[in-house]
Amino acid sequence: MRHQRIRMTDNSSINHHHYLASVLESLAIPVWIFDIDHSRVYWANPSALGLWNANSLDELRQRDMASDMSPSVRQRLRQYQEDFRHAKTFVEPWTLYPKGQPRNLDCQFSGIKIEGDRIAMLCQVLEIDKRNPETLRGLQALLLTSVMVSLYNENGEIVYANPAARSMLGDDEHSLQVHFVDQQSYLQMREIVSELGEYRGEAEVYTSAGKVWHEVNVQYGPDAVTGKNAYLVNETNISERRIAQEHANRLAYHDPLTDLPNRANLTDKLEQELKLARRYNHIVGLLFLDLDRFKSINDTLGHSTGDQLLIQVAREIESAIYETDLAARLGGDEFVCILRELPNADAAAITAGKIIDKIAKPFRIAQHNLYISPSIGISVYPQNGKTVTELMQHADIAMYQAKARGGNEFVFFDSKMNTQAKARLALESDLRSAIQRKEFILHYQPQVDIASNQIVGVEALVRWQHPQRGLLSPVEFIEVAEETGMISEIDNWVLREAVEQQVSWRQAGYSIKVAINVSARQFGTDNLHERIQSALSDSGCGADKLELEITESVFMGSEQSVLQLLEDLCEMGLTLSIDDFGTGYSNLAYLQNFPISNLKIDQSFVHNMETPAILELIISLGKLLNVKLIAEGVESKKQLDWLSKRGCDEYQGYFYSKPLAADAVLALLSDCR
Ligand code: C2E
Ligand code: MG
Ligand code: MG
Repeated sequence: MRHQRIRMTDNSSINHHHYLASVLESLAIPVWIFDIDHSRVYWANPSALGLWNANSLDELRQRDMASDMSPSVRQRLRQYQEDFRHAKTFVEPWTLYPKGQPRNLDCQFSGIKIEGDRIAMLCQVLEIDKRNPETLRGLQALLLTSVMVSLYNENGEIVYANPAARSMLGDDEHSLQVHFVDQQSYLQMREIVSELGEYRGEAEVYTSAGKVWHEVNVQYGPDAVTGKNAYLVNETNISERRIAQEHANRLAYHDPLTDLPNRANLTDKLEQELKLARRYNHIVGLLFLDLDRFKSINDTLGHSTGDQLLIQVAREIESAIYETDLAARLGGDEFVCILRELPNADAAAITAGKIIDKIAKPFRIAQHNLYISPSIGISVYPQNGKTVTELMQHADIAMYQAKARGGNEFVFFDSKMNTQAKARLALESDLRSAIQRKEFILHYQPQVDIASNQIVGVEALVRWQHPQRGLLSPVEFIEVAEETGMISEIDNWVLREAVEQQVSWRQAGYSIKVAINVSARQFGTDNLHERIQSALSDSGCGADKLELEITESVFMGSEQSVLQLLEDLCEMGLTLSIDDFGTGYSNLAYLQNFPISNLKIDQSFVHNMETPAILELIISLGKLLNVKLIAEGVESKKQLDWLSKRGCDEYQGYFYSKPLAADAVLALLSDCR
């Protein structure tokens, strides 16, 4: 299309002007010329004056359209002006608000030259207020939505922003590039857009309210106005979701109690560290830390005190390692540290020693001064393992070694431990099948009344008839059974077997007592009371013929529940003995508070009669408390005489008899008659 030319002040073309003006003036459709440079109507025909609600052309020309023109409209008009130079025309919807009244128009815009060779905009109305409501509402929605919609030209300069976008962007001149906080993600967006024509992602952006996370959708295509390619961007604020997500991530990768990284996090970090270590030949240390006797703190002072202690221990561990190292909590009282880029393996010992020192100081919690110590196992990459699993396992094995040595120390892994650990694992799985195949038998050791030299009872002692290794003593497997929890099945079998045996001796004419050992680990943990009740009623054994041997460590548990259980057992008519008395917990108060009938003096005291002080003390204590005293491990006449003189009540030991099979016990009983 060619430019029409109107030069109102140019006399030489006055005829032309008159001709054109009269044509335009006679048109029923509104036509006007907008002077983009001055933001004013330059000329209008009578129909346009009506549309603009103006009394005269002069009045309309006085109106300053710039006053309520948004920057983006101004920008867009400049864009039009540029496009008119290339003889473009556009048909677009347009809303005017002459004196505040909305008039919805479909206009055709084209360029027209006015004085000074400037390009103005010729506006011809095609339709007035005919736009369908859907379009109108569509426009309205764009104006009102909280979705931020903006349009950037190919150079990334903003050409349009809906109100939501405008208020988000603020007054600053914006380009798409500076909108992105992270330039890497801006470039990535550009790359994807140039490949696929669109992009959808999450990005941190600058807004008038600072840095915010947005979901950003970008569509690349021709601008409906200019026809040139542009970026149509719509954004929604997802900061809240991001925060929630980050919170969730934190939860997934951190231990909520101590806020240290958790196991999953540790495994990831160690994996990464080992990759680096392989490439750069670094030495990496792994410390596996477990608190000694933490359970008793939890049991006696309650879980919240235990939790407080764990938190403070976590802080001490953190303070003992370098900032570039990592401390994690695996759960319970287990912690692991990754020591990065060690100069040599021994350097791990320095850190382990530092941790032990830091934890050695008393922790002040809820008016208590708590003392705790760690057992630390150390494994070192590359000599003790190349993978996360190997290093973790080996540090764990070394930690157990530290525990076995009494705790409060660190131990480096060495390959011999692996053999021991493997043997232990084999024992564990053997034990599992032993329970299934019922490979246990009971031997019984007579308990003899010293005054009358009569057998008054027997202690049931379990043995394992191992298919390859022969008859195994409980010292070889009880500990593993306790640690794995298999002890409850074994002890339950022992209970039923022992009471049945008691009944069969009774039927043979010998109604002696049977004592069984109850593991402290399972004492009070499962329904001991009910199990004993049903074993007694199923077998027909009297409660007064069953004795329970418990160790002093039972009293480390929470006093109230232990007391309740012991009282219930007593009520049933059972007798309670303290086994291995003198070797455990030294708080004697429990002896008064709990319904104990017998003290079994540990054999170590009987074997050390040259230094009889403790033995004498235990005997006089027993007399004071009025409990029966049973000496264990009596091997000689001399020992027996000594005990007899001091007033000890009963004894057990090789001097009288080793533990025997059930029928051998019967033979012994009938011999004695
Ligand atoms: P304990 O209850 O103190 O049992 C006494 C241990 O001393 C028995 O070892 C017995 O054979 C041994 N012994 C008896 N007289 C003498 C002696 O004159 N000299 C010496 N040197 N030793 C003597 P055993 O049978 O190997 O049992 C060891 C430990 O295993 C027991 O110590 C007990 O704590 C545990 N135990 C045995 N049977 C069971 C069971 O059925 N359940 C549980 N939970 N533990 C059991
Ligand atoms: Mg015993
Ligand atoms: Mg004992």
